[in-house]
Amino acid sequence: MKKICVIGAGISGLSIARLLNESAFVEVLEKDSVPGGIAKTQVFNDVAYHLVGGHCFNSKDKSVSDFVFNKIMSKNLWHKIERNSNVLFGDMNIKYPIEYSIRQIYEYDKDKAIRILSEIIQTKAPTSKMALDEWFRCKFGNTLAEEYFIPYNKKIWQTDLSSVASDWVKDKLPTPNVYDIFDSLFEGKKDFMPHSEFYYPNTNNQQTFIDALAMGVNIKYTYEVESICYDPVRGKWIVNSMMEYDYIVSTMPLIELVNILCCVPSEVIESSKKLKYNSITNMLWTTTGTDNTWTYLPNKDTLYHRYIHIGNFYNKHKNYTISESIGNITKNEMVNCGKKDPFLLEPIGYNYSKYAYVVFDNNHQKSVSVIMNYLTQNKIYTIGRFGEWQYYNMDICIKRSMAMAKYIIQEQEMC
Ligand SMILES: Cc1cc2nc3c(=O)[nH]c(=O)nc-3n(C[C@H](O)[C@H](O)[C@H](O)COP(=O)(O)OP(=O)(O)OC[C@H]3O[C@@H](n4cnc5c(N)ncnc54)[C@H](O)[C@@H]3O)c2cc1C
Repeated sequence: MKKICVIGAGISGLSIARLLNESAFVEVLEKDSVPGGIAKTQVFNDVAYHLVGGHCFNSKDKSVSDFVFNKIMSKNLWHKIERNSNVLFGDMNIKYPIEYSIRQIYEYDKDKAIRILSEIIQTKAPTSKMALDEWFRCKFGNTLAEEYFIPYNKKIWQTDLSSVASDWVKDKLPTPNVYDIFDSLFEGKKDFMPHSEFYYPNTNNQQTFIDALAMGVNIKYTYEVESICYDPVRGKWIVNSMMEYDYIVSTMPLIELVNILCCVPSEVIESSKKLKYNSITNMLWTTTGTDNTWTYLPNKDTLYHRYIHIGNFYNKHKNYTISESIGNITKNEMVNCGKKDPFLLEPIGYNYSKYAYVVFDNNHQKSVSVIMNYLTQNKIYTIGRFGEWQYYNMDICIKRSMAMAKYIIQEQEMC
């Protein structure tokens, strides 16, 4: 049996380990003391605190849903939640997606709603080559772009949007055409994004799903991979100068992977230095209560960009919300920002996470392809959100793990 090292016990590492477990000896090496990576939770006050934002699971891909609901955790162990999110748009409280809510904007401000609609009618199809700010103007018109999409996205990307690419938006944002907008006006049509409805474990804790994914997987915790070298004589990968494997599947951030690999060409190292990412800080609060699942905060007067009303993911709702802010924000700054909103009562959890969002600047595509080509040629497999340096949600991480497992199994069969 071949010996496979999977680096990282996040959603990607656990998924591929589960899929390869029967055909190989798989060992997962995880530097943390618990599984889950970005998706993990910690219990505070009897509440599952998502340390890196609230996570909701859904997939439009049948193979992913089948894997999760038939092999990992059956559907009766989850409850389905309908997204009920909103946007604080100026002083208006508008249902998300805002472009489907022009009728509601009309109730607050007739002139603005008419302007938004007339601009949307005149828009042309944007191209994926456009910078993000131009893409928003082209797709939604100037008013929605300037008052919602651009300020919100500036908070997320923390940079001038003229230097951010737009090719990631497909499947991440609703992209209605004029007919969809009119259907929303006259027939109340909604969007069909993957997260317009989603699943959450009946235990009211996403860690249950992660633990189910980790079941039967051989995981070494608090084990950090610090070096990976290939021994051509033995035909083996040597991890931390002591452990031998036939295959390496990494889910650790690409920029860290190239630094611990032996003999990486300078062109690859230079490309990795060009990759950008954003960190995130969040805080768990008790609140006065809401019916919403999450709230977008494009307004400049708050440091936060989003509230995740995590208490409404539980099957008996509780008044808990996570406030999120991009960057490394101190606990005091988070608390002081929260004090401005009477909806937030008491801060009970605080967390900073280094890796949150890949930044799609002009170097992204070229740098990732230089690194991936090198790794593929040298048979070092890498998958996952920061493993591939892409904007992947959990479902896409699972899909990528499934594709990689199939590839490795086929390769083993050919040997
Ligand atoms: C704010 C936010 C909200 C999100 N919300 C959702 C959502 O609602 N729904 C959804 O589907 N997705 C969501 N996502 C995306 C989702 O979290 C990710 O797609 C997924 O968790 C990534 O899993 P991964 O295994 O690829 O990476 P990670 O979770 O980053 O796992 C990598 C693992 O590798 C380990 N590691 C790193 N270096 C080493 C080393 N040297 N040695 C050993 N171990 C190492 C890490 O400790 C980690 O456990 C969200 C992401 C963010 C940032």
